[in-house]
Amino acid sequence: MIDPICARNPKEAECLSKKHLTIIGCGSGGSALALMAARSGIGKLTLVDPETLALENVGRHMLSRSDVGKSKAKALKRLVKEINPNAEVHALADKFKELAQTPDLIISAADSFTCESMINDYSLRHGVPAIYGGCWGEASVGEILYVVPGRTPCYECLAGFRRDQVEIPDDPRKYTDLEFDATRIPGRAGLWPNILIIAGVMFQLVLALLDPESDRTQLIDYEHTLFLVNVSKYDSRLQPLATTFGKVKKGCNICRGRIDLRPSAELLEIARSVEAPSGDVRFAFAFGPDGCHRVQLREPPEAVDIPLIETTWEEGRDDHKTALGS
Ligand SMILES: [Zn+2]
Repeated sequence: MIDPICARNPKEAECLSKKHLTIIGCGSGGSALALMAARSGIGKLTLVDPETLALENVGRHMLSRSDVGKSKAKALKRLVKEINPNAEVHALADKFKELAQTPDLIISAADSFTCESMINDYSLRHGVPAIYGGCWGEASVGEILYVVPGRTPCYECLAGFRRDQVEIPDDPRKYTDLEFDATRIPGRAGLWPNILIIAGVMFQLVLALLDPESDRTQLIDYEHTLFLVNVSKYDSRLQPLATTFGKVKKGCNICRGRIDLRPSAELLEIARSVEAPSGDVRFAFAFGPDGCHRVQLREPPEAVDIPLIETTWEEGRDDHKTALGS
């Protein structure tokens, strides 16, 4: 039976009540998506985040001042259960590694390249669709990518080039803290309503991917997998307050297909082009005949080509191209 809280969305609740959604990253975007899922009637929810809530998070988070100092994942679990006690909720106050149960869909709302690469690896290995959310500038443009393993480009097809393009400030903790993630993007300014718009668009994709009966499946053509949501960047070629659908070129070294990794030189060559951006220890993931390999690199990487990301703006039939990162 559908919970009475879902009286205004019975169709979505009917489907979602049978689904398991995993959200990695319980910050501003992840917490908003968790509560959207709770209020829409999700059956099972897994929340992953190693951090505790800080006062600076409260300005754009579903949790409040009374939760400062508590685990984001665990406090969010409590809030989800208050709204939707029928939901089965698991909170992991830890970095994403493996998952005890394979979900129907993963949402990446993380702020670390390493974490996103690990989610991509998990998604491809287990054949689980994933949605990656992020934003540019002061959350003025949302960048959303959906990945259906085997049918679409993967996360690395879009983001691999950033490893050498995005500058992350050096942090001396990487020398003293073995667990320190030097690929994390530091917190940036950005208004909560902007985050909510981006999360709201991401949730349309959640419904489109989980419910084959939904009209929202029209969003999924397996070709235009990149959604750019221009919330408040008025000098951009992307139409303000609209979503532009973009194509990502498939064929990064992670998802190009099965590659025989036995010759070690070839393995290193593959790994070198997909390594993590900074820190002394570099990791890469690559597929081989016997599964996925985690490869540790010690040599400096070679340059990576920046893929051209084509976006089509239907308005006025004025097609144009946008290259991200240039
Ligand atoms: Zn790929």
